Amino acid sequence: MYGDYHTHTTYSHGKGSVEDNVKAAIAAGLREIAITDHGPRHLLAGVKLRRIPDFLRDIRNMRDKYPQISILAGMECNFLSPRGEIDLPEEYADELDIVVCGYHKGIRPLKVRDIGFFLGNLITKNGKRTLVRNTDAYVNAIMKNDIDILSHPMHDCRIDLDAVGRAAAEKGTLIELNGKRVSLKPEELVRLAELGCRFVMDSDAHAPERVGDVSCEKSVWEMSGLPEELITNLDGTPEFCGKRIKRADK
Ligand SMILES: [Zn+2]
Ligand SMILES: [Zn+2]
Repeated sequence: MYGDYHTHTTYSHGKGSVEDNVKAAIAAGLREIAITDHGPRHLLAGVKLRRIPDFLRDIRNMRDKYPQISILAGMECNFLSPRGEIDLPEEYADELDIVVCGYHKGIRPLKVRDIGFFLGNLITKNGKRTLVRNTDAYVNAIMKNDIDILSHPMHDCRIDLDAVGRAAAEKGTLIELNGKRVSLKPEELVRLAELGCRFVMDSDAHAPERVGDVSCEKSVWEMSGLPEELITNLDGTPEFCGKRIKRADK
Protein backbone atom coordinates (compact mmCIF):
# COMPACT_ATOMS: atom_id res chain seq x y z
CA MET A 1 0.00 0.00 0.00
CA TYR A 2 1.35 3.40 -0.98
CA GLY A 3 -0.49 5.67 1.44
CA ASP A 4 -2.97 5.71 4.31
CA TYR A 5 -5.32 8.67 3.85
CA HIS A 6 -7.39 8.52 7.04
CA THR A 7 -5.68 8.57 10.46
CA HIS A 8 -6.45 10.33 13.76
CA THR A 9 -4.27 11.84 16.48
CA THR A 10 -4.77 13.50 19.86
CA TYR A 11 -5.97 16.62 18.00
CA SER A 12 -9.29 14.75 17.94
CA HIS A 13 -9.64 11.51 19.92
CA GLY A 14 -6.78 9.45 18.56
CA LYS A 15 -4.23 8.04 20.99
CA GLY A 16 -0.97 9.18 19.39
CA SER A 17 0.64 12.41 18.23
CA VAL A 18 1.19 13.43 14.62
CA GLU A 19 4.78 12.24 15.02
CA ASP A 20 3.64 8.85 16.40
CA ASN A 21 1.45 8.30 13.33
CA VAL A 22 4.23 9.38 10.97
CA LYS A 23 6.73 7.04 12.62
CA ALA A 24 4.21 4.18 12.47
CA ALA A 25 3.59 4.87 8.78
CA ILE A 26 7.33 4.77 8.05
CA ALA A 27 7.66 1.52 10.02
CA ALA A 28 4.74 0.06 8.02
CA GLY A 29 6.55 0.92 4.78
CA LEU A 30 4.11 3.59 3.63
CA ARG A 31 5.25 6.42 1.37
CA GLU A 32 2.46 8.81 2.25
CA ILE A 33 0.21 9.46 5.25
CA ALA A 34 -2.66 11.86 5.80
CA ILE A 35 -3.52 13.13 9.27
CA THR A 36 -7.28 13.61 9.19
CA ASP A 37 -8.67 14.49 12.58
CA HIS A 38 -12.41 14.90 13.13
CA GLY A 39 -14.05 18.13 11.96
CA PRO A 40 -14.82 20.81 14.60
CA ARG A 41 -18.58 20.15 14.86
CA HIS A 42 -18.08 16.65 16.21
CA LEU A 43 -19.18 17.20 19.82
CA LEU A 44 -16.83 14.86 21.64
CA ALA A 45 -13.99 14.34 19.20
CA GLY A 46 -13.85 17.38 16.96
CA VAL A 47 -10.59 19.27 16.59
CA LYS A 48 -10.85 22.64 18.35
CA LEU A 49 -10.75 25.51 15.85
CA ARG A 50 -8.15 27.34 17.92
CA ARG A 51 -5.86 24.28 17.75
CA ILE A 52 -5.85 24.04 13.95
CA PRO A 53 -2.82 26.37 13.57
CA ASP A 54 -0.86 24.07 15.94
CA PHE A 55 -2.07 21.05 13.99
CA LEU A 56 -0.82 22.56 10.72
CA ARG A 57 2.48 23.64 12.27
CA ASP A 58 3.02 20.16 13.71
CA ILE A 59 2.58 18.67 10.26
CA ARG A 60 5.00 21.16 8.68
CA ASN A 61 7.59 20.31 11.33
CA MET A 62 7.20 16.59 10.71
CA ARG A 63 7.72 17.17 6.98
CA ASP A 64 11.10 18.69 7.78
CA LYS A 65 12.00 15.94 10.25
CA TYR A 66 10.88 12.96 8.11
CA PRO A 67 11.54 13.86 4.48
CA GLN A 68 11.39 10.19 3.49
CA ILE A 69 7.57 10.21 3.67
CA SER A 70 4.95 12.57 2.29
CA ILE A 71 2.75 13.93 5.08
CA LEU A 72 -0.63 15.41 4.21
CA ALA A 73 -2.74 17.70 6.37
CA GLY A 74 -6.38 16.75 6.24
CA MET A 75 -9.66 16.61 8.07
CA GLU A 76 -12.45 14.08 8.39
CA CYS A 77 -15.37 16.45 8.09
CA ASN A 78 -18.97 15.77 9.07
CA PHE A 79 -22.16 15.92 7.07
CA LEU A 80 -24.16 18.69 8.74
CA SER A 81 -27.43 18.88 6.88
CA PRO A 82 -29.45 17.45 3.99
CA ARG A 83 -28.48 20.61 2.08
CA GLY A 84 -24.92 19.39 1.80
CA GLU A 85 -23.07 21.53 4.32
CA ILE A 86 -19.94 20.06 5.90
CA ASP A 87 -17.75 21.41 8.70
CA LEU A 88 -14.69 22.28 6.66
CA PRO A 89 -13.41 25.45 8.37
CA GLU A 90 -13.26 28.07 5.63
CA GLU A 91 -10.37 29.94 7.19
CA TYR A 92 -8.09 26.90 6.97
CA ALA A 93 -9.49 25.21 3.87
CA ASP A 94 -6.59 26.40 1.69
CA GLU A 95 -4.05 24.86 4.02
CA LEU A 96 -5.47 21.36 3.91
CA ASP A 97 -4.24 18.80 1.38
CA ILE A 98 -7.11 16.38 1.65
CA VAL A 99 -10.75 16.37 2.74
CA VAL A 100 -12.41 13.19 3.94
CA CYS A 101 -16.09 13.34 4.91
CA GLY A 102 -18.33 10.93 6.76
CA TYR A 103 -21.52 10.63 8.75
CA HIS A 104 -21.05 10.71 12.52
CA LYS A 105 -23.48 10.83 15.39
CA GLY A 106 -23.05 13.53 18.04
CA ILE A 107 -22.65 16.56 15.79
CA ARG A 108 -23.57 20.13 16.71
CA PRO A 109 -26.14 20.98 14.01
CA LEU A 110 -25.94 24.26 12.10
CA LYS A 111 -29.63 25.00 12.44
CA VAL A 112 -32.32 23.82 14.84
CA ARG A 113 -34.27 22.28 11.95
CA ASP A 114 -31.32 19.98 11.19
CA ILE A 115 -31.75 18.16 14.49
CA GLY A 116 -34.16 15.85 12.63
CA PHE A 117 -31.32 14.75 10.34
CA PHE A 118 -29.35 13.47 13.33
CA LEU A 119 -32.28 12.22 15.43
CA GLY A 120 -33.67 10.33 12.45
CA ASN A 121 -30.59 8.13 12.39
CA LEU A 122 -31.06 7.35 16.07
CA ILE A 123 -34.83 7.01 16.36
CA THR A 124 -36.26 6.13 12.94
CA LYS A 125 -33.26 4.48 11.37
CA ASN A 126 -35.35 2.61 8.83
CA GLY A 127 -37.81 5.41 8.11
CA LYS A 128 -38.23 6.66 4.57
CA ARG A 129 -37.66 10.30 5.51
CA THR A 130 -34.41 9.36 7.22
CA LEU A 131 -33.22 7.63 4.07
CA VAL A 132 -34.11 10.66 1.94
CA ARG A 133 -32.41 13.12 4.31
CA ASN A 134 -29.25 11.00 4.52
CA THR A 135 -29.06 10.55 0.76
CA ASP A 136 -29.57 14.29 0.23
CA ALA A 137 -26.81 15.03 2.75
CA TYR A 138 -24.34 12.78 0.92
CA VAL A 139 -25.26 13.76 -2.65
CA ASN A 140 -25.47 17.50 -2.01
CA ALA A 141 -22.23 17.49 -0.02
CA ILE A 142 -20.43 15.59 -2.79
CA MET A 143 -21.69 17.99 -5.45
CA LYS A 144 -21.12 21.21 -3.48
CA ASN A 145 -17.75 20.48 -1.89
CA ASP A 146 -14.59 18.94 -3.24
CA ILE A 147 -14.65 15.89 -0.98
CA ASP A 148 -11.73 13.64 -1.81
CA ILE A 149 -12.86 10.58 0.13
CA LEU A 150 -16.19 9.40 1.58
CA SER A 151 -15.28 7.70 4.85
CA HIS A 152 -17.14 4.54 5.89
CA PRO A 153 -20.24 5.10 3.71
CA MET A 154 -23.44 3.65 5.24
CA HIS A 155 -21.96 3.38 8.73
CA ASP A 156 -24.72 4.52 11.18
CA CYS A 157 -26.58 6.01 8.25
CA ARG A 158 -28.72 4.36 5.56
CA ILE A 159 -28.47 5.87 2.09
CA ASP A 160 -29.67 5.23 -1.44
CA LEU A 161 -26.42 3.69 -2.58
CA ASP A 162 -27.12 4.16 -6.30
CA ALA A 163 -27.75 7.89 -5.90
CA VAL A 164 -24.62 8.38 -3.79
CA GLY A 165 -22.52 6.17 -6.07
CA ARG A 166 -23.59 8.14 -9.15
CA ALA A 167 -22.67 11.45 -7.50
CA ALA A 168 -19.31 10.11 -6.29
CA ALA A 169 -18.47 8.71 -9.72
CA GLU A 170 -19.41 11.97 -11.43
CA LYS A 171 -17.39 14.10 -9.04
CA GLY A 172 -14.44 11.73 -8.67
CA THR A 173 -14.93 11.34 -4.91
CA LEU A 174 -13.32 8.09 -3.79
CA ILE A 175 -15.23 5.49 -1.78
CA GLU A 176 -13.38 4.38 1.31
CA LEU A 177 -12.82 0.80 2.36
CA ASN A 178 -12.56 1.50 6.07
CA GLY A 179 -10.09 -0.43 8.19
CA LYS A 180 -11.83 0.18 11.51
CA ARG A 181 -15.17 -1.24 10.51
CA VAL A 182 -16.57 -2.86 7.41
CA SER A 183 -19.31 -0.51 6.22
CA LEU A 184 -19.97 -1.88 2.73
CA LYS A 185 -20.90 -5.44 1.79
CA PRO A 186 -19.21 -7.16 -1.16
CA GLU A 187 -22.33 -6.80 -3.34
CA GLU A 188 -22.48 -3.08 -2.52
CA LEU A 189 -18.87 -2.66 -3.62
CA VAL A 190 -19.74 -4.41 -6.88
CA ARG A 191 -22.68 -2.05 -7.45
CA LEU A 192 -20.53 1.02 -6.76
CA ALA A 193 -17.91 -0.26 -9.20
CA GLU A 194 -20.64 -0.73 -11.85
CA LEU A 195 -21.63 2.90 -11.32
CA GLY A 196 -18.05 3.95 -12.04
CA CYS A 197 -16.76 4.54 -8.52
CA ARG A 198 -13.15 4.13 -7.51
CA PHE A 199 -11.93 3.18 -4.06
CA VAL A 200 -9.30 3.93 -1.45
CA MET A 201 -8.21 1.65 1.39
CA ASP A 202 -7.59 3.42 4.70
CA SER A 203 -6.94 2.33 8.26
CA ASP A 204 -9.04 5.00 10.07
CA ALA A 205 -6.41 4.43 12.76
CA HIS A 206 -7.20 5.99 16.14
CA ALA A 207 -3.93 4.62 17.55
CA PRO A 208 -0.47 4.66 15.94
CA GLU A 209 -0.17 0.88 15.94
CA ARG A 210 -3.15 0.67 13.59
CA VAL A 211 -1.70 2.99 10.91
CA GLY A 212 -1.61 1.10 7.60
CA ASP A 213 -3.74 -1.77 8.93
CA VAL A 214 -6.32 -2.63 6.28
CA SER A 215 -6.72 -6.32 7.05
CA CYS A 216 -10.50 -6.35 7.63
CA GLU A 217 -11.42 -4.56 4.43
CA LYS A 218 -9.00 -6.64 2.38
CA SER A 219 -11.03 -9.77 3.02
CA VAL A 220 -14.28 -8.00 2.04
CA TRP A 221 -12.65 -6.79 -1.16
CA GLU A 222 -11.56 -10.33 -1.99
CA MET A 223 -15.14 -11.53 -1.49
CA SER A 224 -16.36 -8.94 -3.97
CA GLY A 225 -14.20 -10.42 -6.73
CA LEU A 226 -13.41 -6.91 -8.02
CA PRO A 227 -9.98 -6.21 -9.55
CA GLU A 228 -7.39 -4.53 -7.35
CA GLU A 229 -6.87 -1.83 -9.98
CA LEU A 230 -10.03 -0.14 -8.70
CA ILE A 231 -8.27 0.58 -5.40
CA THR A 232 -6.35 3.76 -6.08
CA ASN A 233 -3.78 3.78 -3.26
CA LEU A 234 -1.99 0.50 -3.74
CA ASP A 235 0.71 1.49 -6.24
CA GLY A 236 0.82 5.24 -5.94
CA THR A 237 -1.03 8.28 -4.69
CA PRO A 238 -4.66 8.47 -5.83
CA GLU A 239 -5.93 11.30 -7.94
CA PHE A 240 -7.99 13.33 -5.49
CA CYS A 241 -10.83 15.36 -6.97
CA GLY A 242 -10.13 18.32 -4.66
CA LYS A 243 -6.63 18.71 -6.16
CA ARG A 244 -5.44 20.40 -2.98
CA ILE A 245 -2.06 18.71 -2.62
CA LYS A 246 0.74 21.12 -3.34
CA ARG A 247 3.60 18.74 -3.88
CA ALA A 248 5.94 21.56 -4.88
CA ASP A 249 5.93 22.62 -1.19
CA LYS A 250 7.64 19.46 -0.19
ZN1 LIG B 1 -13.00 8.93 15.59
ZN1 LIG C 1 -15.28 8.54 10.80
